[in-house]
Amino acid sequence: MPIDALKYPITYLANVGDARAKQLKDGMGIETYGDLLLQFPSKHIDRSRFYYTHELTTDMPYVQMRGQILSFEEEGFGRKRRIVGHFSDGHGIVDLVWFNGLQYVEKSYKLLTPYVVFGKPVLFRDRFSITHPEMELAERFSRSGMGLRPYYSIPDKLQKRGINTRMMEQWVATVFRILHEPLPETLPEYLVQELKLMSRDEAIRAMHYPQSADHLSRASFRLKFEELFFIQLNILRYSRERNRRFAGHVFARVGDVFNDFYYHHLPFPLTGAQKRVIREIREDVRSGRQMNRLLQGDVGSGKTLVALMSMLIALDNGFQACIMAPTEILAEQHLDTFRQFLGDMPVRVELLTGTVKGKRRQAIMEGLQTGEVQILVGTHAVIEDNVTFRNLGFVVIDEQHRFGVAQRAKLWNKGQDAEGQGFRIVPHVLVMTATPIPRTLAMTVYGDLDVSIIDELPPGRKPITTIHHYENRREELYRGLRQQISIGRQAYVVYPLIKESEKVDLQNLEEGFHQFQKAFPDLSISMVHGKMKPADKDQEMSRFVSGETQILMATTVIEVGVNVPNASVMVIMNAERFGLAQLHQLRGRVGRGAEQSYCILVTSFKLSGDTRRRIQIMTETNDGFEIAEEDMKLRGPGDLEGTQQSGIPFDLHIANLARDGQIVQLARDVARRVLDSDPQGDRPEHQGMWQALRDLNKNTIDWSAIS
Ligand code: ADP
Ligand code: MG
Repeated sequence: MPIDALKYPITYLANVGDARAKQLKDGMGIETYGDLLLQFPSKHIDRSRFYYTHELTTDMPYVQMRGQILSFEEEGFGRKRRIVGHFSDGHGIVDLVWFNGLQYVEKSYKLLTPYVVFGKPVLFRDRFSITHPEMELAERFSRSGMGLRPYYSIPDKLQKRGINTRMMEQWVATVFRILHEPLPETLPEYLVQELKLMSRDEAIRAMHYPQSADHLSRASFRLKFEELFFIQLNILRYSRERNRRFAGHVFARVGDVFNDFYYHHLPFPLTGAQKRVIREIREDVRSGRQMNRLLQGDVGSGKTLVALMSMLIALDNGFQACIMAPTEILAEQHLDTFRQFLGDMPVRVELLTGTVKGKRRQAIMEGLQTGEVQILVGTHAVIEDNVTFRNLGFVVIDEQHRFGVAQRAKLWNKGQDAEGQGFRIVPHVLVMTATPIPRTLAMTVYGDLDVSIIDELPPGRKPITTIHHYENRREELYRGLRQQISIGRQAYVVYPLIKESEKVDLQNLEEGFHQFQKAFPDLSISMVHGKMKPADKDQEMSRFVSGETQILMATTVIEVGVNVPNASVMVIMNAERFGLAQLHQLRGRVGRGAEQSYCILVTSFKLSGDTRRRIQIMTETNDGFEIAEEDMKLRGPGDLEGTQQSGIPFDLHIANLARDGQIVQLARDVARRVLDSDPQGDRPEHQGMWQALRDLNKNTIDWSAIS
């Protein structure tokens, strides 16, 4: 059996000692030869092109020059102390700058010796300089041939330790030289043929040393496909496995409870999208398969009602249902909403949160065991082990991004074994989110869920008008607020709150509170933040909900779910500190009634390019999906909400979910076909593939914890 050289630790390389190895591990996650080879260059430089010193301009990202260092000189003091090498190619002088000791530089580079120098030229006091240039002896350079040369991005921290792209290049070259055998293929040979993919060996080599731009793009396609294919294979295999082990309760009929509600209690007609989604759920729950469905719908699109009506189907079939919300406030609001909707219908709905204690709790627990409590509303307290239902058939998880795969799995414990059948019957699960997830990301992160979308708002809603204000236009802001409040509306004013600057953030809120009190002496203003006692917080909230106060000032606690249809203005202070998804969520708190609503984004003058773009997107569109796509482009998929808990590794080496949507789709289709053709996983031509998947999974989630 061949020894797998890719697993060798990098310390086997001649000039990588323990210290360097630690730097590479901490800074770039490189531990083995294999890791090194998968560290692809961020770009390639055409090394057949040399520039002369007199040709340089300020807009060149990188240049390559040939010449020699005439002399070294120390300049500056303290932290600005640097070594300057005066470099000439016979046409002019360029300064090479190092922030290292003179000794180190003199030891590393020889005077009056031909070098090839590579770096970004910067104009400084009428002369071009290059800081920490890449240097290579000219004689060596010519030996290494012409063509596209890899350029590796090295984190600043490592650059300061003297690690640069040339060094990476040498290590990579060494590893390739040591490898005697081609890098193993991980995809079945027939797929490589059929999809006309490059072999894995050729692709990885070509990523570093492509023969042409086309060669490079075919290599990257192959590797992106591979990466996404294994993710899809994993997800689909997992969900099939789940279908094998778990079944859903069969809700054969729609009965009196649902129909009574639909025909006699529903205060308005359902939107087309709501009807469609209820039909989709209905199909699932009568199939015998266990439903795992993700319901996406913009804030205010009416998901709560869909949840309620789905739960009524469970009741019609003799089952209990529950809904979990991320906060107590939201759970309470759901309880109120449900009770209002249901009116005098004989359906028992109860609330269970951490603050429900003593006798009350006892009574609810008993009601759950006897089945008298039919719908339970709560926070995660609901999925704790000591809560037992008589027969829980349907679970709704609202605002899902705080509930990960593992939490969903806890629900399985609430199921019942189908006696002697080798599987468990578990509740159907509906996950709801108002944070729209781009399709490619959903396919990857929530790939084991079926997706329903509410893409239609209830009629009569006017699109929210979003306006950007600079901080110093307070008067104008106050005028706008006063105008809205004078016609009977209410307003939210939200301040950012993050852990790292919690103290200052709270001070900002309090300071803002005083400013607003001064500006509006005749109004009642509520203030709410996370440091308050829950009871006080609730009281302030309900004062606002009841209309007793006109303005609610808060940190981001009101982000999710709160519903006050009379509120028509959302002011977001320091809007530059919020991400797009969050801004959109906050904005969704208004525009719930029929009135024209406004969102005012208040920022400082100094804005980065990305921030400017975020604000611009917000003022241009109300469409959550469009915003999610833009967000993914700006931030990268790994930072999007919900992905952290997904169990999918997001250090994708090469694929980019924001850009490679088509490859995601292809990978999914192919993975599905492979699984269909090999349900037992025993086809010989797939063994290498399964092994590769097992290897990948070692570093990621332990799916077995779920089943
Ligand atoms: P979300 O999807 O953000 O959870 P909600 O379920 O809170 O939205 O709905 C927002 C508001 O729209 C609620 O006041 C709800 O009663 C109302 N609503 C829901 N469906 C309809 C409908 N079909 N027609 C009119 N109003 C509706
Ligand atoms: Mg909601």
